[in-house]
Amino acid sequence: MVAPVPGLSINLATVRQQWNMREAAEACVRHGIHAISPWRDQVAAIGLDEAVRVVRDLNLQVTGLCRGGMFPAATAELRQAAIDENRRAIDEAAALKADCLVLVVGGLPGGTRDIEAARSMVRDGISTVLPHARAQGVKLAIEPLHPMYAADRSCVNTLAQALDMAGEIAPDVGVAIDTYHVWWEPNLAASIARAGRDGRIFAHHICDWLVPTKDLLLDRGMMGDGVIDLSGFRAMIEAAGYFGSHEVEIFSAQDWWTRDGDEVLRVCVERYQSLCAARV
Ligand code: ZN
Repeated sequence: MVAPVPGLSINLATVRQQWNMREAAEACVRHGIHAISPWRDQVAAIGLDEAVRVVRDLNLQVTGLCRGGMFPAATAELRQAAIDENRRAIDEAAALKADCLVLVVGGLPGGTRDIEAARSMVRDGISTVLPHARAQGVKLAIEPLHPMYAADRSCVNTLAQALDMAGEIAPDVGVAIDTYHVWWEPNLAASIARAGRDGRIFAHHICDWLVPTKDLLLDRGMMGDGVIDLSGFRAMIEAAGYFGSHEVEIFSAQDWWTRDGDEVLRVCVERYQSLCAARV
């Protein structure tokens, strides 16, 4: 038996081209990784009941379900459809006993230019689904995304902004802090400290920022291959009182998705242990 790797979780998008959810989860266990975070399409592909069995059979922690959100829409009907979809995502997160439902909140509705209106729709959407999340025991984590996604994926683009929004909604709405999205953010240490003080750090995602980045969505780097100070990041997040999982989330169409899945996980473990350890 391989030694367990404490603190490491694998976001299953990292190996989505290699394996289905059960295969990926079994592979994680082979590598000593006992925490995962699946995407809803990966859950749907094997069915929710089977996904729940995978988690139970392998005794896995589910550090998050990706993803809910996408609240802004051009019509009331479409906004309601998004609310309904988020309620289903909450139910799935509850069934999987996920630590949180990650929210990629959505960008501008098609044909519109009012980003503040989109942000209001996000606030309204989260507020509307929050009672259902509470009833199901699911925590909601707003994930701020790098501003290059402001138009199409998330109009919440900095950790400070995500914390402001969470604060406007409720004390029990939190954030998912992804190194890829916020590594560049001014006053990051202060914002991470604030997130910790407010008890809002529900998830932490790790990967690296490649220079150059060749694709806005599908060219994330393995830890150590880019410019993010990952041990410095870990020091900031632990100083804020977060000692939860570090979830590797890499979308990499041209590189890591083309490799053998076991090689990907082996490198994830090596880089996590050598580069993401807390700075003492
Ligand atoms: Zn993420």
